[in-house]
Amino acid sequence: MFEYAPAPESRDVVDVKSSYGLFIDGEFTDGAGAAFKTINPATEETLAEVAAASEADVDRAVRAARRAFGTWSAMPGSERAKYLFRIARIIQERSRELAVLETLDNGKPIREARDVDLPLVAAHFFYYAGWADKLGHAGYGPDPKPLGVAGQVIPWNFPLLMLAWKVAPALACGNTVVLKPAETTPLTALLFAEICRQADLPPGVVNIVTGAGETGAAVVNHPDVNKVAFTGSTEVGRLIARSVAGSGKKVTLELGGKAANIVFDDAAIDQAVEGIVDGIFFNQGHVCCAGSRLLVQESVADELLEALKRRLSRLRLGDPLDKNTDIGAINSAEQLARVRELSDIGEAEGAERWSPACELPGRGFWFPPTIFTGVAQSHRIARDEVFGPVLAMLTFRTPAEAVEKANNTPYGLSAGVWTEKGSRILWMADRLRAGVVWANTFNKFDPTSPFGGYKESGYGREGGRHGLEAYLDV
Ligand code: NAD
Repeated sequence: MFEYAPAPESRDVVDVKSSYGLFIDGEFTDGAGAAFKTINPATEETLAEVAAASEADVDRAVRAARRAFGTWSAMPGSERAKYLFRIARIIQERSRELAVLETLDNGKPIREARDVDLPLVAAHFFYYAGWADKLGHAGYGPDPKPLGVAGQVIPWNFPLLMLAWKVAPALACGNTVVLKPAETTPLTALLFAEICRQADLPPGVVNIVTGAGETGAAVVNHPDVNKVAFTGSTEVGRLIARSVAGSGKKVTLELGGKAANIVFDDAAIDQAVEGIVDGIFFNQGHVCCAGSRLLVQESVADELLEALKRRLSRLRLGDPLDKNTDIGAINSAEQLARVRELSDIGEAEGAERWSPACELPGRGFWFPPTIFTGVAQSHRIARDEVFGPVLAMLTFRTPAEAVEKANNTPYGLSAGVWTEKGSRILWMADRLRAGVVWANTFNKFDPTSPFGGYKESGYGREGGRHGLEAYLDV
């Protein structure tokens, strides 16, 4: 059989330090919390020790951001734009370094870090740099004002991209930020801090505080934070909504999802299979808008399942730094335990589990691409967000049934529709309760396009002109 030779990306392009501090007021400083280790999930090797910010450290960061807010917000938008353009260009120049670091710390395939995450990160900064001097034309009044200090907390699945989604619009609008990356993936945010210095960004405009949930809670609950932006689980989102209620802080929550990817009998099957694979196996399924529920019209279900299994048997799982790898490592031991638990429950509840023959590396956190068939809507595998490479397949007969099943979820972040008929796409998009509906494609992102959820997937929009609203006093 045809085999690929290994094609590893060199990790020499990035200098991983043995320890990292917090980034406050333009300087790297120690944290008062107990330092923690960040590991490479593909090998379990310790990459670095990272400082943890205590409440007092977070207070220092918020005070630095408050001091910087005066000059930053008073600066003409065209001047702020120059900094954002500079950051965007440095990100492009250092993209290989950033991509390798992201892959080491997160476990995602280098192909995705290099070809998806990094280009989108740079595009986000370029896009919002363009808005900085045009805010009066964004539809929020002739002279919209920033909010002040933004406290931002992000997850581990797209560490640098989630940072870009938060930092770029905040700065473009004239706010300053205190951002907390996830505890399993802090390294690219800290390299971004170095990029802020390289771009001569005034001290205090961006502050990065590392640590776990308590540090995040200290950021969102700080009394001098004016805006809270959170991306993460619905569970923590609920806690945050409760804790900031009545505080006057503006809040956006980007939470979990359980998207339906709906295939009609007139869809191009091979194309749909590619979209299904991209929908759920991209980034090991650690994607909030992943197409984790496959709804297939009954008449083509067998044909589609066969094609899908054939395709999965060709996916290459292994070393994330290998340029041929399609599926990398699960981000942490905890996440692997959750994926395993929900998959075991799927089987125990009576669904049928299938994975291609696939050898898992001896060290690190790995889970093979998995499909469940014979799934009922009541099964947890069809209801709970697995956040892993696990697809639950259900069938339907009529468009109305497809809509009903797709909307039968507490979430509403995204959906996909595969059909040859434009009229059916529009009919479906009108009825699907999801923030994004992709037609004959999936997981397509663009900085010009707003992203966000219905119901328990959160509220507020990030991206596009709509994304400015969250950072303006409107
Ligand atoms: P998580 O909610 O456990 O953690 C997210 C972040 O919140 C981390 O930085 C964490 O340290 C911090 N945190 C934890 N407890 C906190 C608290 N009490 N107060 C403040 N901050 C706290 O989520 P996760 O496991 O890191 O990420 C996975 C989840 O994120 C999934 O549910 C996924 O769907 C969701 N997600 C959503 C989007 C979106 O745009 N809607 C994007 C990516 C991920």
